[in-house]
Amino acid sequence: MDKEEEISRVAEGVESCRRCGLYKTRNRAVVGSGSPDAGIMFIGEAPGFNEDKQGKPFVGRAGGVFDELLKSVGLERGDVYVANVLKCRPPGNRSPAWEEIRACTPHLDEQISIIRPGVIATLGGFSMSYIFGKFGLKEDKISRVHGRAFPVSNLAGIERIVALYHPAVATYNPGMMGVLLEDFKSLGGLPK
Ligand code: URA
Repeated sequence: MDKEEEISRVAEGVESCRRCGLYKTRNRAVVGSGSPDAGIMFIGEAPGFNEDKQGKPFVGRAGGVFDELLKSVGLERGDVYVANVLKCRPPGNRSPAWEEIRACTPHLDEQISIIRPGVIATLGGFSMSYIFGKFGLKEDKISRVHGRAFPVSNLAGIERIVALYHPAVATYNPGMMGVLLEDFKSLGGLPK
């Protein structure tokens, strides 16, 4: 099976998933998008209103900010892979619950082990907490670690984790765009 086929197999599992209660309120599950051969994988928090309607990650206002940030470092959606910690929208865009994260992250783990990106970039605190825990990095506040690249060693070939603020912060605090633009530079281009 090539990576594309393996990702399709994950997608089938996500679309029929009932491991937590969010399947009851979702319109569309959001598996992920981009290239399965990407060297950089971005991981956000959860689908919002627009993502739930379209079945694609980061297509609303935060998605517009995300596209601008990608462009600032010479990247496009097709160069990277984008997924979320949760595949279904929490009603009213509330924060993910820990039992939902526990139930859902086997899907994300599968995506990571299929894509095997050189770099994982976390978007926001929930993604950072989950990925830092998974790769044995010390839990910290995003306000202290944003924009930093952490080397990791593991069998999946992931070389570094980059902690980034969630792009939505720039939608409610435009002053944060400068911080995000600066932090995106720490991605260091395409690793492979
Ligand atoms: N916020 C996220 O974390 N992910 C999305 O896909 C959209 C908004």
